[in-house]
Amino acid sequence: MSEDFAIEEDDYNPQNRVDEFKKLEPEFWKHKALKDMNAYEWEALCDGCGKCCLNKLEIKGKIKFTNAYCRFLDCKSCLCKIYKHRHSAVADCRDIDLEAVREKPRWLPKTCAYWLLDNGYDLPPWHPLITGQAASVIQAGMSLSGRDLINETKVEDYEAHIVDWQDL
Ligand code: SF4
Ligand code: SF4
Repeated sequence: MSEDFAIEEDDYNPQNRVDEFKKLEPEFWKHKALKDMNAYEWEALCDGCGKCCLNKLEIKGKIKFTNAYCRFLDCKSCLCKIYKHRHSAVADCRDIDLEAVREKPRWLPKTCAYWLLDNGYDLPPWHPLITGQAASVIQAGMSLSGRDLINETKVEDYEAHIVDWQDL
């Protein structure tokens, strides 16, 4: 792992991103299919929960989440510390596109806005697009913030870290 990537953490305020949502068409997700969304709309759907950055195992055709987080996740803010360079630093870091959303077995948490909308559900009431607040996902307890987590660099046996949280 290059040290060039290890310390970069943008001075980034998640609320600034949510404030930009006012420029989007109100409730665009209710009448626009995921495949028809533009890049801004698509990006706005991410609630910032961080749960897709947990390590996972595939066992007997099912995805098991662990409580081991990617070394580049800031698990307080649930933001990636190296977002711009993530693909250079982490070979299996995935972009969330329609293919990823529809992949079987499901590897995105069941609260993930992309998965919810693609499966006919609405956004949950705590989603920042509904509340106008970036922190609402954390306040609702739906992010990784405050959970019993371990940095992947400290894990010896991933199977010992499988978790069965209801929102995964
Ligand atoms: S699980 Fe979905 S909503 Fe949560 S951070 Fe990942 S892409 Fe965004
Ligand atoms: S590198 Fe990828 S998996 Fe790791 S924290 Fe960043 S977005 Fe998440």
